[in-house]
Amino acid sequence: MTKLIYNFKSKDLKKIKNPKEILGSKGSNLSKMGRMGLPVPPGFTISTKVCEIFYRNKKKLNSKLIKQIKNELKKIETDVSKKFGDLNNPLLLSVRSGARVSMPGMMDTILNLGLNDNTVVALAKKTSNGRFAKDSYRRFIQMYSNVVLGIESYYFEELIENYKLTKGVLLDTELNEDDWDGLIKDFKKVVKDKTHQDFPQDVYKQLFSAIESVFLSWESKRAKIYRKLNQIPSEWGTAVNVQSMVFGNMGNDCATGVVFTRNPSNGSNNFYGEYLINAQGEDVVAGTRTPQYITKKAKNEAKASESSMQELMPKAYAELSKILKKLEKYYKDMQDVEFTVENKKLWILQTRSGKRTSKSAIKIAVDMVKEKLITKNEAILRIDPNSLDTLLHPTLDEKSSLQVIANGLPASPGAASGKVVFTPEEAERLNEMMQDTILVRIETSPEDIQGMHAAKGILTARGGMTSHAAVVARGMGRPCVSGSSEIDINYDQKIFRTSNFEVKEGDTITIDGSTGRIILGKVQTVKPEISGDFSKLMSWADNIRKLKVRANSETTIDTKAARAFGAEGVGLCRTEHMFFDEERILSVREMILSKTKEDRDVALKKILPYQKKDFLEIFKIMHGLPVTIRLLDPPLHEFLPKSEKEIFEVANVIGVNKKEIVSRIEELHEQNPMLGHRGCRLAISFPEIYEMQCRAIFEALSDLKINKQMSAFPEIMIPLVSSEAEIKILKDLVIRTARKVELDKKVKLNFLIGTMIELPRAAIKAQDIAKHAEFFSFGTNDLTQTTFGISRDDSGKFLNDYIENKIFLIDPFISIDEGVKDLIKIAVLNGKKKNKKIKLGICGEHGGDPKSIDFCSMIGLNYVSCSPYRVPIARLAAAQSELKKNKWKL
Ligand code: PEP
Ligand code: MG
Repeated sequence: MTKLIYNFKSKDLKKIKNPKEILGSKGSNLSKMGRMGLPVPPGFTISTKVCEIFYRNKKKLNSKLIKQIKNELKKIETDVSKKFGDLNNPLLLSVRSGARVSMPGMMDTILNLGLNDNTVVALAKKTSNGRFAKDSYRRFIQMYSNVVLGIESYYFEELIENYKLTKGVLLDTELNEDDWDGLIKDFKKVVKDKTHQDFPQDVYKQLFSAIESVFLSWESKRAKIYRKLNQIPSEWGTAVNVQSMVFGNMGNDCATGVVFTRNPSNGSNNFYGEYLINAQGEDVVAGTRTPQYITKKAKNEAKASESSMQELMPKAYAELSKILKKLEKYYKDMQDVEFTVENKKLWILQTRSGKRTSKSAIKIAVDMVKEKLITKNEAILRIDPNSLDTLLHPTLDEKSSLQVIANGLPASPGAASGKVVFTPEEAERLNEMMQDTILVRIETSPEDIQGMHAAKGILTARGGMTSHAAVVARGMGRPCVSGSSEIDINYDQKIFRTSNFEVKEGDTITIDGSTGRIILGKVQTVKPEISGDFSKLMSWADNIRKLKVRANSETTIDTKAARAFGAEGVGLCRTEHMFFDEERILSVREMILSKTKEDRDVALKKILPYQKKDFLEIFKIMHGLPVTIRLLDPPLHEFLPKSEKEIFEVANVIGVNKKEIVSRIEELHEQNPMLGHRGCRLAISFPEIYEMQCRAIFEALSDLKINKQMSAFPEIMIPLVSSEAEIKILKDLVIRTARKVELDKKVKLNFLIGTMIELPRAAIKAQDIAKHAEFFSFGTNDLTQTTFGISRDDSGKFLNDYIENKIFLIDPFISIDEGVKDLIKIAVLNGKKKNKKIKLGICGEHGGDPKSIDFCSMIGLNYVSCSPYRVPIARLAAAQSELKKNKWKL
């Protein structure tokens, strides 16, 4: 019989091959800590397999499981010498979720389980602390009612707030045993009103319902959204951890806290955390009370007045500090640890790999290599390439004038500007309208996750560095300023006030998540650069990878940025994008709308000098490196004049009347422009267009050669080829033009001619096409479009439905689809058969996607090409792929 429940000390744990899969991350770490001899409260883990069984069994625990749970419970009772539901010495439990990867705040937890009207009296007697017992009971009613009975916490919070007002006190800690007693009665009345039943007094009923609710929370809306955002499969399921309770709320020699072994925001090697005296875990995470610092150093740096744990509880701190070091050494990674001090005794409740900002992830990885805790290869594999994105985005321009209106905690770095919104729904609504927002909340809750994702930045009035807002924002890479007590939010009036300002919904503000500043208006930003630890990690990655990384770029600004980010050439220069500026587009329109070759030649002559100048600049920036220039591939609808003014302008230049232009536009209209007169098809009809472009390339090249200025290596790329004949005709055209320029300028020119493989026929007939091509570059945007027959421009409308229905696990325009991969493999194989030396690359958007990069590396492409800002991501992803190829094991 498969074992389904594991005591933290069970010998069977050793037999489990993948503990995280079976026990979940929390359960696996708890049992590891138990075996390391750390002070972990006794307990057991109900495995993820049970989650599967639970859902199969109509969302109920079966009788066999119930029996096993009862057996395991007995072992805890023996361990702690307490009895569940006992009237003298009652055992209380925590019931927590725990998936394979941690999903902070997304699933349910219940604490103090096992309390009822009778056990609460026993607990009060046993601990000689009636206030503590009643406080624990009211917390339990509140949590259980929320999680199991579905009653909003708000009803209970409101009762407490109103009671405090009548009593004239501010803090929960100012309420005594009698106060809580009264509130417990009120709480139970709420339960009766809402459910028409009494609050359950049977402790076993409490336990089994709580376990079932934790399993159910795996399918809650917020858990599903989190899984979707983080690509966590729903089949994984969650485990449930049942553990004996320890109490941080039994008096002033008790506390609870969260501590990171290093600073999760900047990566510095100092403990970083917060704790609260006389409180339970939820108080720290929920951000309802502002916590105190763990170390004296952190307290002093923050100029905080309340004492640190190091000062107030030196013994417990010393033990905690030893354990933190031990855990980090064992896991070889920064840990996020939850602890409780119960009457001076330290208990460790959880350890997990700490979520961190990209900047700190890099610093920690590089530092750990220096400390010889991990190897360079491990450091490379530690960093999620996509997470670098946040480091490659602009930060505040300190030179611009900043009107700082308030400050908060620097919870997640980066700068963001946007319109103030007060609800997650509004952030989502404006996001759909392409408007940037800053989500301003008193505190965030897991329900806000979708809005947090839609917003450009998050600002909260309450909560510390480990509050939900901070943890989730860091995970998402969203800038966040948390716990700004300097702002006063009024949801009803949709405003927030600082000491001098009033900010309304819709006003623009900027937040700086690196310093905690809140600034009025939009602020200029500066471009990031790669330096320090980041460049060190990049250089390690470059030493490992074999795949080259180029950039898709056609402007001087982007090409310079690409080179600064380490691009090893241009992999795609989309020449039609060079015509977007107002003056040039007129000439392009003139060319497109010309009826005769003569008219077209006039327009082309105007375009040639622009093209030549652009190519010269790109060659110079990419001195010594290859530049792939793709000949014109304009989907016509993007270039035809649309407005009255545009039509009038072209009519004027060509010297015909407006009517004639309108009728020409009608003639040129295409039903499916993406499948129309595009790419090389245009040059088959109008070869003079490609002739002009090639002349511009070759004249630029010969200028450089004659002046012996720089070395340029153009690779001329013919788009949208599907047959051998097309490439043959156009290759001849390119060579003919080159010969003419060589003759004119008396130079010998070196260049390559190749094609894009972006149509299924081209992939299948690659053997024929390769006869005439020195390189293939996979245009996976069009290849995906044409393989599926799904329009690139229209897919956004229904792709979500496909993902919801699990037809696509991920948008195939982001990560290469399996069918498209097969076509690429065929093309690589057949292309190489005819031309062993053929150079192979990819230049569709997939060239910057780590999963697709892994595929490109595995099938032996020579390079990937992506947008300039993704170049470092691609460099790292290529190195990781190489390490995996070599079966590198962590
Ligand atoms: C492609 O199709 O993948 C490609 C790079 O070309 P474009 O996106 O310009 O069509
Ligand atoms: Mg294309």
